[in-house]
Amino acid sequence: MSPDGSVWRELGQITTAVGRAMGVTLRNLARKPVTIHYPEEKRPYPERFRGVLALTYDPETGEENCIGCRLCEYVCPPQVIRVEMLKSEQRNYAKTFSLELYACEYCELCVQVCPTDAIVMLRTVDLATHDRRELLLDKDRLHAFGLQWEPSWATGNKLREMQAPPKAAKE
Ligand code: SF4
Ligand code: SF4
Repeated sequence: MSPDGSVWRELGQITTAVGRAMGVTLRNLARKPVTIHYPEEKRPYPERFRGVLALTYDPETGEENCIGCRLCEYVCPPQVIRVEMLKSEQRNYAKTFSLELYACEYCELCVQVCPTDAIVMLRTVDLATHDRRELLLDKDRLHAFGLQWEPSWATGNKLREMQAPPKAAKE
């Protein structure tokens, strides 16, 4: 029994598709790879990159910047921040501070509302892990991240200044 026309048509389509695919392979054979061997090799993050969150210290006094006001906790859409305030005579502190980074949306709202620039985003996301418990961050780890990686330019005070309405022109 001889094959009918549809078999020849399908055979032709397969041959064309294979030929096209081989053409793409051959064209790219001599090109330099665009991939890199992360994490041994890292690409520089862009200037305005904002990633993992951290807590900061005041560079002049060495004191924690967080005053435990809980604004970040209230504003966080997925409610992944928990803060307990420690009242003190001169100023207040965060007695405890936890952040469930595995459920964070990286929306930056917590940074925007912070009155003391205590919570910032870092110019990194290099925190890959197989165990999500490692992404439940307490106050100590958040402070350690702040010392380990470079903070982004965007602090709460700078962001709020940028959002302020323009002043009326003088007549
Ligand atoms: S970046 Fe957004 S989701 Fe993540 S902790 Fe801050 S407010 Fe919450
Ligand atoms: S990080 Fe900022 S907004 Fe959050 S509790 Fe501390 S001072 Fe308040």
